[in-house]
Amino acid sequence: MKLTIQEIATVVRAKNNLSELTDTEIRNIEFDSRLIKSGDIFLPLKGARDGHEFIDTAFENGAIITFSEKEINQPHFLVEDNLVAFQTLAQYYLKKTKVPVIAVTGSNGKTTTKDMIAAVLSEKYITYKTQGNHNNEIGLPYTILHMPERTEKLVLEMGMDHPGDIDFLSKLAQPELALITLIGEAHLEFMGSREAIAKGKMGITAGLHGELIAPADPIINTYIPENQKITRFGPNEDIFITKLVEHKEYLSFNTNFLDETITIPVPGKYNATNAMLAAYVGRHYGLSEKQIKEALGKVELTRNRTEWKKAANGADILSDVYNANPTAMKLILETFQAIPKNENGRKIVVLADMLELGETAAQLHADILKTLDFTTIDKVYLYGPLMENLAKATTDKPVSHFTDLSALTESLSASLTPQDQILFKGSNGMRLATVVEALTNKK
Ligand code: ATP
Ligand code: MG
Repeated sequence: MKLTIQEIATVVRAKNNLSELTDTEIRNIEFDSRLIKSGDIFLPLKGARDGHEFIDTAFENGAIITFSEKEINQPHFLVEDNLVAFQTLAQYYLKKTKVPVIAVTGSNGKTTTKDMIAAVLSEKYITYKTQGNHNNEIGLPYTILHMPERTEKLVLEMGMDHPGDIDFLSKLAQPELALITLIGEAHLEFMGSREAIAKGKMGITAGLHGELIAPADPIINTYIPENQKITRFGPNEDIFITKLVEHKEYLSFNTNFLDETITIPVPGKYNATNAMLAAYVGRHYGLSEKQIKEALGKVELTRNRTEWKKAANGADILSDVYNANPTAMKLILETFQAIPKNENGRKIVVLADMLELGETAAQLHADILKTLDFTTIDKVYLYGPLMENLAKATTDKPVSHFTDLSALTESLSASLTPQDQILFKGSNGMRLATVVEALTNKK
């Protein structure tokens, strides 16, 4: 960023006199005092500890000024609420730089779609995007204030824990294009119902002044504002996938709006949808089909979202342990089940609990039975208290249930052969990643 202290003081309505420093230009802001470098502003936030405790460290590391909610001896902007000041500053900076924003929300696929959109737009524009998964009321303004000078397109991920979150982020960022990837079941625990999730996600229209791209799912219909331009995706809608060919490590698809066949170097049929959305955004911004195809052909995903790995003994591991909910679990199972077996190899599935599903969690776990195809799956390992519901529904099948992570790891290591293929899926909090790691580490 590039703002003078005077400008910042005015924007955040600092209540103190800063006359000595006014023309000094600030280039960076950090809320982690360890990241502060010479000339930066420090932003104390309240987390496990009060950020004000780290003001001294920030100045030792070179901060020139800090935000503060109380009078202190060091140079500061005195404000009522540091976070609100930060958000106000980000909003001002976006308006000042006039960088157009593309906003991405949805129950799943936000980070993937955001990364794919940014990869596509980068073929033509200087593009910046939410780094990693920083998609909340702190991460979004942080992204805005960290975009490099001369940025031409900004792709922002918007996440939701509670009703109203997306509404707030959309008003802050004022997107000119917005996407909803999916209305699923994520965060049911806090949101109550799918209806509430749909309403929450549609908050993305609150600050939108342009097109909305959304699934054909009728659940959002009541929340579409009057005169909202909307492109729906899904079979026979405005945009859709006409042909999908899945391979073990990549997939190819065609759409109803591109002549070219797109190939992406990642498996998972949902990734075809994410890539189709990115392609549509690319076309919206005037990229050629060649540019879109090239960008998606080399797209890289953030770690642990659907990744093939090799076990130490040579078995193939499909690791998708970053998060899980019924929709995502169904889709990855379908993808895995469609992959041909290795010669003399088995197909094994390891499923752990899907967290944050609220009251219907037990039923949603038992329902996974409908997706499991025991004509291609040789063995299922279940882990966690909620997966016991699925275990009870599959007592006549080759299914084992574990309540202990190390027992699961041991049982897997003992039986895995080099020809096996094995899928891991579960919520991040279930720590299946540690099992994957144990199996991939050479002893
Ligand atoms: P978070 O809420 O944690 O930020 P996210 O919405 O950013 O998640 P991603 O990180 O892109 O989602 O993907 C997480 C997982 O969701 C993937 O590994 C995959 O299993 C599943 N997934 C990705 N895209 C879709 C999609 N379009 N529809 C359904 N499931 C998807
Ligand atoms: Mg994400």
